[in-house]
Amino acid sequence: MREFRTLSLRKKYKRSVMTIGEKTEMSDERLDDFMGRANATYYGNCNPFSDFITSPEISQIFGEILGGWVAVVKQHLPRGPFMLAEAGPGRGTLMSDALRLLQRVPDIMAAIEVHLVETSPRLRQIQKEALAAFDIKPVWHDRIESLPAMPFVFLGNEFLDALPVRQFVRCSEVACGWKERWVRGENFVLHEASDLPAELLLREAEEGEIVEISPAMLHVAEWLGNRLKNGMGAALLIDYGPSRSAPGDSLQALHNGRPADPLMKPGEADLTVHVDFEAIGRKASSAGARCFGPVTQGNFLSELGASARLEQLCRAAPDQAATLRTGLDRLMAPDRMGHLFKVLALTSPNMMKPPGF
Ligand code: SAH
Repeated sequence: MREFRTLSLRKKYKRSVMTIGEKTEMSDERLDDFMGRANATYYGNCNPFSDFITSPEISQIFGEILGGWVAVVKQHLPRGPFMLAEAGPGRGTLMSDALRLLQRVPDIMAAIEVHLVETSPRLRQIQKEALAAFDIKPVWHDRIESLPAMPFVFLGNEFLDALPVRQFVRCSEVACGWKERWVRGENFVLHEASDLPAELLLREAEEGEIVEISPAMLHVAEWLGNRLKNGMGAALLIDYGPSRSAPGDSLQALHNGRPADPLMKPGEADLTVHVDFEAIGRKASSAGARCFGPVTQGNFLSELGASARLEQLCRAAPDQAATLRTGLDRLMAPDRMGHLFKVLALTSPNMMKPPGF
């Protein structure tokens, strides 16, 4: 499960790292290209939930709390229809728990248009079945760019961490000061970096340290920032990673539910990285959004009344109480997912502070 990673017991796989000159072997692949290809195959063919488990799969309270957040934010959107979008909806559990909560809010369901950004046909089918019970007509998209321009609330839980990353190694011996990790077979090789992302210029690192930049994540942040500047809306991004940018190699793989070597078996293992929330917030803000947080998942759920909801559920189903308590504890305890997982909100510039921040 992705909580696996919260234990920070990631085994680092020792491998030889070759340094080569400027010549690029035809067979070498830049890490982000490798990761994008591997994850597209993985999510297209495998059952990710046999490798890891996510917050909505651990406790229904997670999706319900997010549904409550949507209901509050909706009050600050223009009257009429609004898009409830989710990126990387997995098995559709978060959306279905959120909609169950929203069904209890007067008049809101008729205004909701559900849009899901999902590349995997397999998971789309599972999402369709999960949402069949609701009076909605979900629309699926391959990319965020095709989401319609209308007032919106955007949710993404453990979506960003699956997006490809580039890894740069501080290196004073080359003119630009950075080498970049490419993949050759089952090894990393270092090439002198070219086409340096602007974000890298803001980053400091000691000789030999790795800095991760994900153009794909920054693109999502910029796209959301633009949409929020030009129309009313809010986005909630939940993922694992530090609040402040820091050097380090966070790439990891899960295969058959266990940590694995990220370069072995591409397409058969789930590849993820820590999300750099500082960089995401900066990118979205510079595109025009207001940015709140990140706060820890534990604090966010607590602020939004997760414990009260737990007691309510335990009273209604006493025989389920122990499971319900264990589930929420997993999401909120600082030594489980409560601390490493963060929540970042982006809103239109003239919107009020959303709940939980
Ligand atoms: N949010 C879900 C699932 C997280 S797993 C949960 O919390 O349970 C990551 C999800 O993102 C999967 O649905 C996967 O198919 C999807 N995904 C991965 N890469 C993607 C991409 N580039 N574009 C759209 N969806 C992607």
